[in-house]
Amino acid sequence: MRKWFTAPKHLSNWNNRMRLSYWAMSLLSIAAVMMTWVLVANDNPERLPAFLEKQVLIRNSLVFGTLIVAEVIYRLKSSLQDYIIIFLGSCFAAITLALSSPHVTGVQIVMVLPILVSILHFNYGKVLFACWITMITYLIVMTVVPVYRYEFSLSQKAVGFSFLIIVTLAALGIVNRGLQMMREEKAALRSEKKHRLQQQAAHEASSLDALTGLENHKTFQERMRAAIEEGENRPIHLAIVDIDNFKLVNDTFGHAVGDTVLRKVGKLLRDCSQDGIIPSRYGGEEFTIIFKRMSGKAVAEWLERIRIETERLRFEEMDEHHVTISIGFHQLQAGETRDVLFQQADKALYSAKSSGKNRIMW
Ligand code: GH3
Ligand code: MG
Ligand code: MG
Repeated sequence: MRKWFTAPKHLSNWNNRMRLSYWAMSLLSIAAVMMTWVLVANDNPERLPAFLEKQVLIRNSLVFGTLIVAEVIYRLKSSLQDYIIIFLGSCFAAITLALSSPHVTGVQIVMVLPILVSILHFNYGKVLFACWITMITYLIVMTVVPVYRYEFSLSQKAVGFSFLIIVTLAALGIVNRGLQMMREEKAALRSEKKHRLQQQAAHEASSLDALTGLENHKTFQERMRAAIEEGENRPIHLAIVDIDNFKLVNDTFGHAVGDTVLRKVGKLLRDCSQDGIIPSRYGGEEFTIIFKRMSGKAVAEWLERIRIETERLRFEEMDEHHVTISIGFHQLQAGETRDVLFQQADKALYSAKSSGKNRIMW
């Protein structure tokens, strides 16, 4: 039972709710009929056969027949589910109308149910479908159900049809306004997204190095300032990485190949970075790396890994030759400024160069 009432996943949530409320409505109406049946059976047993014929057989077989056929199509053809929900609305409206009396005040208003349901889809086609299906079921009730056929005047029927047309026009108006609002909302979202992307692009253009994609000199300076301000009690290291004999690469293979080398070394630094390790392209063939929250030993190990990985890179543009790097680094000491930190790291780099290159000094 539970499985039967649980709709397949591909059915939309909203339609599913409508479908369940139709089932609930029909079960409630059955319960009401059953209770009346019990009361009739108790009070006037002779009226029972007529009551059975009219109420139980006609109404319930109509309701259940429609619901079951609709449920089967609903489950098999997910593309038709919106139309089936609208169609079911008109069936319920027609059955309610047919089984009540035209003298019940306002009962005809039930015919607008499918049109109201169709508004929820914000689609002109579905509103028009609801209008047609409502007109047809209304026409059937007016011509087939005796009480309407004979007791309802032509002008009353005309008023009913006009009312349905007016409600349809109002529904089309609501859909039109709703769609217009959606379009405006989408346009606003698009322009906001475009603006955000432009801002992001402008920010990246001013903060990143175009060749390597690493942060540029300006951003490095900002990072250094921030790292020193926020990390008073934590170890901060600065490393300067310089590609060895890079001028020779340019002179031998050309600047384009030199650029490829810069790009690949930059990518290596970026790929090996993690939280607390911030590489930048300082300028030319020099890179800087800020280390936050790492011991000197860990920094030296990390840099050694980078040195070895760089040595392993092979460049097909350079006939499978490789490049090496020299690195100097320094830990910020109490009372040292940004400039002193940089000078100390640069001094260590100078020692690495002068003692043979392809090494790390501090
Ligand atoms: P050392 O081992 O002492 O560092 O020697 P080096 O040749 O690497 O250093 P030097 O300072 O003599 O040469 C650096 C060269 O880097 C000179 C410059 O033309 C080149 N260079 C700077 N920026 C770029 C760039 O963006 N692309 C290319 N292809 N070359 C660049
Ligand atoms: Mg240099
Ligand atoms: Mg160099």
